[in-house]
Amino acid sequence: MTISDKHVVSIHYKLTDSAGEVIDSSDGGEPMNYLHGSGSIVPGLEQELTGKSAGDQLQVTVPPGLGYGERNEELVQVVPREAFGEVKDIEPGMRFQASAENGDAQVITVSAVSDTDVTVDGNHPLAGQVLHFDVTVDSVREASQSELDHGHVH
Ligand code: ZN
Repeated sequence: MTISDKHVVSIHYKLTDSAGEVIDSSDGGEPMNYLHGSGSIVPGLEQELTGKSAGDQLQVTVPPGLGYGERNEELVQVVPREAFGEVKDIEPGMRFQASAENGDAQVITVSAVSDTDVTVDGNHPLAGQVLHFDVTVDSVREASQSELDHGHVH
């Protein structure tokens, strides 16, 4: 069976950045399952997996535009410390859930802290990065009707 829309695909994968640092990996764990065609993995990887089948191995280089997007410097903002209210120990690297102007949940990352201000970055941590995937297709099956209805794997 080959990979196309409406199929549940299991993959083992390793994701490295351009410096060769491993960002994420399924090594030593369960393969990752996803519903092909649902946009649940980055587009650049999803399109390369189309037509592959169990046992296939592939190396995919995904540019930012087909990955987590380009960085948007407008999403970097300096806010007064008081905006964090009760949170006392704010440090670079901390993540907070915020609501974007359109109401969507957005994860922001603290990038710098001074006595009075906190610089926050609403970009995805992997925005602007070229992603290198090393993938082995573990299995492919047809999605069930309820999986298609829900848009995710059960
Ligand atoms: Zn469900």
